[in-house]
Amino acid sequence: MDHDAIVIGTGQAGPPLARRLVAAGWKVAIVERKLFGGTCVNTGCTPTKTLVASAYAAHLARRAADYGVSVGGTVEVDMKAVKARVDAVVGQSRNGVERSLRTLKGCTVYQGHGRFVGRKEVQVGKETLVADKIFINVGGRALVPPIPGLDRVHYLTNSSMMDVDFLPRHLIVLGGSYVGLEFAQVYRRFGSEVTVIERAPRLIAREDEDVSRAVANILTDEGIDIRVDSKVAGVEMHGSDIALTLETGANPRIVGSHLLLAIGRRPNTDDLGLDKAGVACDERGYIQVDEYLHASVPGIWALGDCNGRGAFTHTAWNDFEIVAADVLDDDPRRVTERIEAYALYTDPPLARAGMTEAQVRKSGRPALIATMAMEDVSRAFERGETKGFMKMLVDKETKQILGASLLGLAGDEVIHCILDIMYAKAPCTVMQRAMHIHPTVSEFIPTMLGDLVPLQ
Ligand SMILES: Cc1cc2nc3c(=O)[nH]c(=O)nc-3n(C[C@H](O)[C@H](O)[C@H](O)COP(=O)(O)OP(=O)(O)OC[C@H]3O[C@@H](n4cnc5c(N)ncnc54)[C@H](O)[C@@H]3O)c2cc1C
Repeated sequence: MDHDAIVIGTGQAGPPLARRLVAAGWKVAIVERKLFGGTCVNTGCTPTKTLVASAYAAHLARRAADYGVSVGGTVEVDMKAVKARVDAVVGQSRNGVERSLRTLKGCTVYQGHGRFVGRKEVQVGKETLVADKIFINVGGRALVPPIPGLDRVHYLTNSSMMDVDFLPRHLIVLGGSYVGLEFAQVYRRFGSEVTVIERAPRLIAREDEDVSRAVANILTDEGIDIRVDSKVAGVEMHGSDIALTLETGANPRIVGSHLLLAIGRRPNTDDLGLDKAGVACDERGYIQVDEYLHASVPGIWALGDCNGRGAFTHTAWNDFEIVAADVLDDDPRRVTERIEAYALYTDPPLARAGMTEAQVRKSGRPALIATMAMEDVSRAFERGETKGFMKMLVDKETKQILGASLLGLAGDEVIHCILDIMYAKAPCTVMQRAMHIHPTVSEFIPTMLGDLVPLQ
């Protein structure tokens, strides 16, 4: 054994795990085939939230008169400058990850594609690394669906979107879920015509219907054309444009200048030699793990998007904590202990924790519900950002919070006071006794809880 551990991938779980292992005296090899920091840093969270910030600035500048501010002339977006800003923010994060690994004593960085050639052996280029413990953190990539004609047009994914330094005249976004909607609103605010095509009967279909509807209204109000119930039958070039034919609908042909695929992700496990190690995957290629994230072979763990237990940076990070606790701390943390939580970074954002209303109804448990329009939240009113609403569900007997959907100003921050109470398994009455700060959105969470009524 030339190393104690091999970490494949430098996404959101691999680097912090390498740091913990090295601190515990392990000799670690970490392998990266492309960009240090993985999806989140290079083509996911970091660049998209940087774009969201530029789009918000453009949106606010156009609304400046609402605040008594004069901008003078029309608001222009310099796409080259927007991209330069994204590149600078991303570059800083990526370089930070790379530098921290390359200077980590006890850790050796191998650059290249890692592939199992045996149970304890990983090949990278001409080198074969051997270790008793192997941690897989290979993430995923955009799913390219088998749509007729797609291979003959130039389409974009979240990765190639990062090279865009111009304004697409008409961006067609295939997929009305989290990734697609963020790009849709961003490019609409930059000035593109935008059409979103969604196969399901509504956007973000895993959310409650009232939440989907409110998000759709916000986007439609900004001029985004949303086509739900729309299955794409084929794609072709139309001059220099791209034409999509839908299977149904009154207007089944959509022509745009650019096409973004945002219909899901697939794990990077197809060229990993998992069969050589005997590591089992499910039918979609996700590595099968137990609740401690052990793969099917002793001494091998899978962390982050590639295990199919989460699709977020915070779930990948939480996986790192679970594995570090398992390997180093003799602290049996489990993936099943975590409460589902995520945000959609449209403006306003949608933040979610725990169960949806539909899930609570399906569970059949007696529950209470409260909702509040953002128009009734004074901070939102003062900010002139009153779109959206908040909803909370509480167990009728224990008064523990079952779930929350916060669509509105600062929802992505406010949700954490709810999440922490949920982790503490404390009744929501605790929040009603705490003094909150005025004027904030958070101060209205206890107010809202005062209006709980039985879920009919
Ligand atoms: C557009 C977009 C926006 C997103 N926004 C958010 C957000 O706001 N919040 C959020 O929580 N999540 C967001 N996500 C999801 C988030 O980016 C991922 O969940 C997260 O990056 C997963 O991290 P990971 O550690 O599993 O893998 P990744 O970050 O995907 O990293 C895997 C790494 O492994 C490397 N690799 C793969 N195969 C090999 C191999 N064989 N050998 C060597 N190296 C290999 C890859 O090059 C990569 O660097 C977003 C995703 C996208 C696409």
